Amino acid sequence: MSVITRFAPSPTGRLHVGNIRTALINWMYARAHGGQFLLRIDDTDTERSTKAFEDGIVTDLAWLGLSHDLFMRQSERFARYDAAIKELKDEGRLYPCYETPEELELKRKVQLGRGRPPVYDRAALKLTDAARADFEARGVSPHWRFLLDHEMVGWSDLVHGEISIDTASLSDPVLIRADGQPLYTLPNICDDLDFGVTHVIRGEDHITNTAVQVQLFALLGDRVPTFGHHPLMTGAGGEGLSKRLGSLSIESLRADGFEAMALNSLLARIGTSDPVEPFQSLDQLVAAFDIGRVSRSPAKFDPAELAHLNERLLHDMPYEAVRARLDEMGVGGDALFWETVRPNLAKLADAVEWWQVVSGPVAPVIEDTAFIATAADLLPNAAFGPDSWKAWTAAVKQATGRKGRDLFLPLRLALTARGHGPEMKNLLMLIGPERAHARLRGETA
Ligand code: GLU
Repeated sequence: MSVITRFAPSPTGRLHVGNIRTALINWMYARAHGGQFLLRIDDTDTERSTKAFEDGIVTDLAWLGLSHDLFMRQSERFARYDAAIKELKDEGRLYPCYETPEELELKRKVQLGRGRPPVYDRAALKLTDAARADFEARGVSPHWRFLLDHEMVGWSDLVHGEISIDTASLSDPVLIRADGQPLYTLPNICDDLDFGVTHVIRGEDHITNTAVQVQLFALLGDRVPTFGHHPLMTGAGGEGLSKRLGSLSIESLRADGFEAMALNSLLARIGTSDPVEPFQSLDQLVAAFDIGRVSRSPAKFDPAELAHLNERLLHDMPYEAVRARLDEMGVGGDALFWETVRPNLAKLADAVEWWQVVSGPVAPVIEDTAFIATAADLLPNAAFGPDSWKAWTAAVKQATGRKGRDLFLPLRLALTARGHGPEMKNLLMLIGPERAHARLRGETA
């Protein structure tokens, strides 16, 4: 049986780092097993779902390189869900309930007050036909609950190992709202069945849902997928991320100039027993992926770690991988330029500054004119090679007696207008004799 995994976001907001960790694990699992990855848009909530958010999801995943093989929208499958609802009603597994939210809240409080778990008491199941007819006559539309089979439900979880849940400790879940809209659970079962999803990998917050869903899979289909529930993501100090999710959206991290592979590398490795390392390609990440390494403790997301990983990724990035993007940014350098400046980049956009240092115009910073004039006399006019910097500074040292910082810093300032930066040996070659001489004369060049 070929593996099919899925990522099922609701288009009610932009994707954030927590979502992408789930997407990545599913995507890598599918790729690692030669399987397929389904992108499912969970848009049954027609009031909160928008096309713009759906487009955002597709854009963000494409930017990260998490391509899908299959695609579907729940909003196009209401007829399918209606058929499943009918099937469950026919089997007596859905029952109408008429309690208001206030009544339900009161029941909860009473139960908690008596020290009991707040489990729905199935009062609606005991309504007489006459009582039901009375609600209907008064225009009260029911919501519908799924009648759980009170039993132990167990599965072998990809992350947690053996899990077993006593469904007698759960409330019969509401599957259909009073306005007739199916909630997430039932469509989810229909889709996972119809699209042949073999592995459902999602956050730990779904563990209880899974117990319910295992019963629904058995009722509506002939197989139950394999499940994996990864711990949720927290901030670096273990705090919840919910308040910061806006700034942790993929859209804003992309706008901040982070590399897609820095995000992929970090999100694939935090919360696992593997080290966080920069990976240049998704293929490399997939090759090293093993779901057994996903840990049972939370994945801690630290923006500082992302920034650090971004730098490490750029420092090793081959020229061919960035060539087109440098062109787009108006950076005209070649492989020598890239290899010279990449150790100094935190973000790719920083290359623009160094391109300007190389190609000009740069207003030189000269404090000691006599020293720079001497140095200028000693600088050859012919094209520079890899040894030019060494030969030139040796000559300047001999002529002036300066050494170390006193020798090198004024030359760097005159040639680049900056006190630090990439290796001067390469920068000198890139700047070239004409611009270098002009800058040493104090001209903006
Ligand atoms: N739309 C659901 C959610 O985002 C999908 C959960 C699942 O993977 O089944 O929570």
